[in-house]
Amino acid sequence: MTKISDVLKRRASEQSRIRVQLNSVRAEEEALIKGGEDTVAWVKEELCIGCDQCTIVCEDDAIELYDTPLASPIMKVDVNRKARILRDPCTGCKICVLACPTDAIIMIDR
Ligand code: SF4
Ligand code: SF4
Repeated sequence: MTKISDVLKRRASEQSRIRVQLNSVRAEEEALIKGGEDTVAWVKEELCIGCDQCTIVCEDDAIELYDTPLASPIMKVDVNRKARILRDPCTGCKICVLACPTDAIIMIDR
């Protein structure tokens, strides 16, 4: 059985891997996205697939996942997660925007 310490170690290593990738590949894109202390991240719920990438890269613990029922009543899944931003701890660093695979996160004025 996997130990919690192994999971945490894997998470830290994944965090570092994503960071390195983002820094090198998407530096130009980052320059075009507004950010900073006057901005805050916002999740477009309809685009979020609950993949957890944003919570991994956010170093300020400003993103949490919550469960919500599926929009379609004919489909059944055990868990349907979405991300939401906690406005106060968000520093506007915009790294979550770059990490999101579905472009569900945007930066808005605070
Ligand atoms: S902008 Fe930065 S601090 Fe705010 S939620 Fe995204 S990663 Fe976290
Ligand atoms: S990275 Fe994007 S799709 Fe994944 S949980 Fe965060 S907001 Fe949702």
